[in-house]
Amino acid sequence: MTWTSLRIHAPESERAAVDLLDGLGPAARPYAGGTGLFLSDERRHLEQLVDLKEIAALAEVERRGDELHIGAAVSLWALERSRELRDVLPEVAALLGAIANPRVLASGTLVGNICLAAPRTDLTALLAALDARVICLGPGGERDLDAVDLPSGPGRTTLRPAEIVTRLSSQSRRSSSDWPGSASTRSVGPTASVTVLLEGADGHVTRTAVAVGAAVPRALRLTDIETALTGAPLEELPGRVTEIVAAVPPELDVTSDGHGSAEYKAAPAGGAVRARASRGGRKARPCP
Ligand SMILES: Cc1cc2nc3c(=O)[nH]c(=O)nc-3n(C[C@H](O)[C@H](O)[C@H](O)COP(=O)(O)OP(=O)(O)OC[C@H]3O[C@@H](n4cnc5c(N)ncnc54)[C@H](O)[C@@H]3O)c2cc1C
Repeated sequence: MTWTSLRIHAPESERAAVDLLDGLGPAARPYAGGTGLFLSDERRHLEQLVDLKEIAALAEVERRGDELHIGAAVSLWALERSRELRDVLPEVAALLGAIANPRVLASGTLVGNICLAAPRTDLTALLAALDARVICLGPGGERDLDAVDLPSGPGRTTLRPAEIVTRLSSQSRRSSSDWPGSASTRSVGPTASVTVLLEGADGHVTRTAVAVGAAVPRALRLTDIETALTGAPLEELPGRVTEIVAAVPPELDVTSDGHGSAEYKAAPAGGAVRARASRGGRKARPCP
């Protein structure tokens, strides 16, 4: 591929994008910001691109009650500034303000970030903790799946041929409780990203989400820890956390890669879970 031989198509609807991809075959790729695609090895094999940015419906952030739908063409920059995001998913807004650089934020998208299926991006643990879902459209119609199930491994997704992600959706964590809980996310370099969300009522933890990304091929929820934390009195939380997360959780099947051996990564991953959960417990305050 040379840049001059590359053909770029700009459909105006989601259906037209899918039809184009279906007709053009595997040498065509959808893209939004291009910040990941044009740096990847994949770019060498590209002949045709289907630009999703001209599709007006994909450039919307839409609130439906307690749920937010984020279109695949919404830039990270526009998203971070959206009132809807700040109201419904403030945890995501806070994280977006701390990643990448202005050039990438201006053109990159949240959906593109997930479709890259890069284990070490910052958002995977948070989206797993939020139970975020992706809505896909392909030649066979629409389907939706857990955002954590979109990557099938580093650089690979479970998308079907000619299928695109149209939106990411997630529910607010604030609607189900009279205590807003705490959102706590931490990236430890490329080694581990950890999100701990706590919700509670009447002085007790009612719901938790503990997720780890980066150290593992796909983000995962640490359900044993979630179960052990649920029901704990808030006052005892910091002490309980130390007890519950005493060792690296066995579910945390840390993998060796170019960023470090499994042994090297396991300690900071386990330590980050412990630190985040303790901090979340200390910060937690009932609603005024
Ligand atoms: C310099 C730099 C710094 C960065 N720093 C960070 C960081 O600190 N933290 C972090 O988490 N991330 C970081 N990133 C990653 C960045 O967030 C992603 O590159 C960006 O979000 C990808 O979005 P995009 O729209 O540009 O995707 P594109 O490059 O357009 O696409 C990426 C991949 O997804 C596919 N794709 C895109 N949209 C769709 C769709 N709707 N349906 C199906 N497939 C699709 C494309 O075919 C391609 O394979 C960084 C990237 C760069 C280049």
